[in-house]
Amino acid sequence: MERFPAQPLHHLDVLWIQVAGTLCNLSCTHCFVTCGPGERRHPMMSRGEVRARVAEALGMGVREFYFTGGEPFLHPDLIEILEDTLASAPATVLTNGTLLTASRIESLRRLSDESRSSLEIRVSLDGLDAAAHDAFRGAGAFARTIEGLRDLEASGLLPIVTVTHTGDDDPLVFRERCLHALGALGLSRPRIKTLPMFRLGRETTRTRGYAEIESLRDLPESAFDPHRLQCGSCRAVSAKGVHVCPLLVDEPGGRMGERLDQTLTPFKLSHGACFTCYVTGMTCGNG
Ligand code: SF4
Ligand code: SF4
Repeated sequence: MERFPAQPLHHLDVLWIQVAGTLCNLSCTHCFVTCGPGERRHPMMSRGEVRARVAEALGMGVREFYFTGGEPFLHPDLIEILEDTLASAPATVLTNGTLLTASRIESLRRLSDESRSSLEIRVSLDGLDAAAHDAFRGAGAFARTIEGLRDLEASGLLPIVTVTHTGDDDPLVFRERCLHALGALGLSRPRIKTLPMFRLGRETTRTRGYAEIESLRDLPESAFDPHRLQCGSCRAVSAKGVHVCPLLVDEPGGRMGERLDQTLTPFKLSHGACFTCYVTGMTCGNG
């Protein structure tokens, strides 16, 4: 019989909210949730739905919220939703950085200044120049994202730049390269987070999905550290329910229930993506 490690939920600290569903203005060739214009497999969540989920989560001890999609800035009520949430807890928005108009940045600046809790903006990059980034995200995306990053920095909001580590170089060397490249692009104080590539969603057709061997099957108990993975302290909500983590919102087996209190049980780490998490030690959070 196949055996996979079971990840306990130690404490629910973090809730991911797929506020924009699968709707995005880009359709990146590696998108692990297969988002894009017209992609409505996961609908947007209304302000009322988000408010109810935040209240449910706060009641269970959640301390931090992350807003994702799709592209959150396509949601017509995103600023109000952030305002609701920041009244109780810190929030982070993950964006592709192409829709950061002056009025949106002004609203974010105001929220950041006036809220009791901290607001973080995270912007994704898939390459350190236009050729590399646009190969994933489409022509012109790099220029608009860099402009968005510069405008955020100029407003005093210091974004976190999430860079996908697609090559084989050492992670520390890659990080140095990122810092250098962003400095050359005019960002004076870049904060960087690197992420591995996940073989999910569109990435499975761009390259391939997980191979049989990329699995935690039969991992010896002594090799499994139950404190290492983010799913020991997070869950993700979409309009379709509660999922184990933000990576598996669109994967079979990722949905754990309708209410958060139905999802406190251990999760069997049988997905190929769990292998990537395990070998890289990554977390989707800001840390
Ligand atoms: S990777 Fe991000 S920006 Fe690209 S399609 Fe997916 S959600 Fe949109
Ligand atoms: S994909 Fe990663 S975060 Fe999600 S359940 Fe697997 S190990 Fe946990």
